[in-house]
Order: sequence, then C-alpha cells, then structure tokens
Amino acid sequence: MPVLVMKFGGTSVATLDRIRRAAKRVGVEVAKGYDVIVIVSAMSGETNKLVGYVEETSPLFDAREYDAVVSSGENVTAGLMALTLQEMDVPARSWQGWQVPLVTTGAHANARIEEIPTDNINAKFGEGMKVAVVAGFQGISPEGRITTLGRGGSDTTAVAFAAAFDAERCDIYTDVDGVYTTDPRICEKARKLDRIAFEEMLELASLGAKVLQTRSVELAMRYKVKLRVLSSFEEMDDAAGTLVCDEEDIMESKVVAGVAYSRDEAKLTLVTIEDRPGIAAAIFGTLADAGVNVDMIVQNVSEENYKGHKGGVTDMTFSCPVNQVKRAEKALADAQAAGALKYDSLEAEENVAKVSVVGIGMRSAAGVAAKMFKVLSDENINIQVITTSEIKISVLIERKYMELAVQALHDAFELEKA
Ligand code: ASP
Ligand code: MG
Repeated sequence: MPVLVMKFGGTSVATLDRIRRAAKRVGVEVAKGYDVIVIVSAMSGETNKLVGYVEETSPLFDAREYDAVVSSGENVTAGLMALTLQEMDVPARSWQGWQVPLVTTGAHANARIEEIPTDNINAKFGEGMKVAVVAGFQGISPEGRITTLGRGGSDTTAVAFAAAFDAERCDIYTDVDGVYTTDPRICEKARKLDRIAFEEMLELASLGAKVLQTRSVELAMRYKVKLRVLSSFEEMDDAAGTLVCDEEDIMESKVVAGVAYSRDEAKLTLVTIEDRPGIAAAIFGTLADAGVNVDMIVQNVSEENYKGHKGGVTDMTFSCPVNQVKRAEKALADAQAAGALKYDSLEAEENVAKVSVVGIGMRSAAGVAAKMFKVLSDENINIQVITTSEIKISVLIERKYMELAVQALHDAFELEKA
C-alpha cells in the first residue's frame, strides 16, 4: 500500500470537534487506498502552557524533565485522534515517540532525529491497521530518556516519517492555506504560491515565514520528500495548498519568489578592534559560546596606525535577534575583561529589521540587487547592512520602514502576478 503522511498542527486539533474534522480527512485518504501515518501536534496553546509550568516550577530547569513535561501535549492528541478514527470504524493505533522508537540525539529540548525503524508500524499495517497516529515533536535518547525536537518540531517528525516510509507525500495541515509571496498581514497583495522550490522555502522558513520548522524543510530537501502545506479549515481539494518540491518540478520559476522579513533584529558595532588574524574568530567564538545567533557580519575597511596601534584597526558590525543584545554585550565585555579581546566601545542599535528577497531564478538573472536597492532608495529607506547569497539578498533597515519596504518590493517584482 502506498503511504501518505498527514500532519495536523495545533490549531487543527485544538478541540474535539476539530480532531473529528481532521479525522474525516484521514478517513478520505484511507478510502483512497493509502496506509496513513498521522503526526499530531499538541492542542494549540498546550505546549506554551506546559513550558510555563516548567519555568514557574524551576527557572533553571533540568532539560530532561522539561522534555518529559512538554512532550505530553502530543500524547493527548495522539490518543484522541486514534479514538476518533476508531469511532469512525477506521482501524487506528497511537504511538508515542519511544514506542516507534524514534531515536534522537541526547540534546534535550533540541534533539535531532537519528533513526526511525519502520518494522513495528509496518507489522501493524500488515495486520490491517490503516492509520498509525504518531505523537509529533518527541523521541527517545540513547540513554532512554524522552526528548523533544525544538519548538515547531512536529513538522520535522512528519517529514522524517515520510522519508523513512518512502511516503508518496507529506501533507502539513495548518491554519493558513499555503505559502505566500509574503506575509498577507502586512501586504494585502500577497499571493498564495502553487509551488515553491525547497531552497526557496528553506530561505523563507529561516527568514521568519513561520509556516514550517526550518529543519523540516532541510530534511525534505535532503530526502526529496514532496511536502504540501494546506489548511485544514477549507474544503478538501487535491490541488489545494502549496507544494514544496524540487526545482525541476516547477515549470517556470520567477526570478524572485517571495519577500521575507524579520522584525526584531539588532545591529551591533564593535568600534576599534585590532585588524589581525584571529580577531574575527575571537569575537564570533565568544558570541557562539554565549549562544548568540549572529546573522549578518560586516568588517569595515581598516585604518593603518590609528591611535598609535601598530597594525591596522577596524570596526566590526553584526546583527543578531534583539532579545540577545544583552547577552552579546555581556559576553564581549567579559572577553575584554579577560584580555581575550580589545575594543573601544560596543554600539547597539535595537530598532532595525531585515528584509530579504528570495528566488532561485536569481542564480541566472542579473540586476536583482540593483533593482532592490533602487526600490528602497525611491522610498527613501536607508540600507544599513547588505548580505547576499546565490538565491537571496537581505538588507538591514530601520524597523519603522519594514512594512513599506516589503510592500514596495512586492510591487516592484510584481509578485502579485502568477
Ligand atoms: N507542540 C510543539 C510546539 O508547539 C511542537 C509542534 O507543534 O510542532 O512547539
Ligand atoms: Mg508549527
């Protein structure tokens, strides 16, 4: 029997009624002849509540017990989904991660999947079970403790199962009807995409389009799992949603597929650092050790013999999430105090946002960056930092212009047109 993976996010299983509606969709696929693996999230809001319990009980919690608590939301929905399917006369059984067993690394709260053996579940399919309902987000470490895969991790569970069982497709049911050219909440002309390439989705996911956990897209790309993102609140339709697929499966890709943004960024500049081998390693090693997620980096042109320095000196600018500024400041100050680094001052600007245009067509088209900069200049928006990759151009701008920039770029690249 061909296998289909169907993942239901928190809003799709938020009430018993919604679980019933999701189960009906599963029933339709079973009737088509699929063996179905259903991956469920916790009811919406549940994981946040559990995280809150843990933090209130123990601010410096033991991550093993954090996982024991926060993984439990998915256990409830897995059992309820199996019961609902049984009530509809669909043979179904629930599986917690450890029962599969879905083996992960021991990195609690952010574990990675190591192995998904298929024999247990396949044996049940062989005995007539039609649906395996698997609790998403959780696994078991080599030490035999329960682990979780990081927030949003059920997406990754779903893709990993699709890869392990060689599923025909992995359908991700959520509360939006697909992937958009940009966030419809800030740009009313945003258009739903029928298809998007893995690489593009990866950039959009990591740039803050919150539809899919980034790791799930990485995994789908590596194992060529066809992913479909669709809403569980609309009529069933085989062409619904957005297919995330290999670029060969997209007939004509536009130069720019989407505009992404990340609102809460900060820009930090280390003023007057020595320009010598090892200085970047010292700065960013310090920040990495402190758990600061550095994104863009710019090293300025160095000045020779500035303020009596023997070699040159320079400035180093980088960006990170705004809620990590304090941590970055402390880590760098500690390194300075310990003699590992020397700088005159650290200037933090906490009012910046990142806006990016993404598209695989950029690999073969010239002038995308120039056009982007012209659009921003026409709107009188100053660009503070620029970074590029093969399929993406990102700029850091003042936060109050973020919406305007997204809308102007969406217009200029005509993303509202199919
Ligand atoms: N329930 C978990 C979370 O809220 C995992 C998931 O839904 O993907 O992060
Ligand atoms: Mg999610």
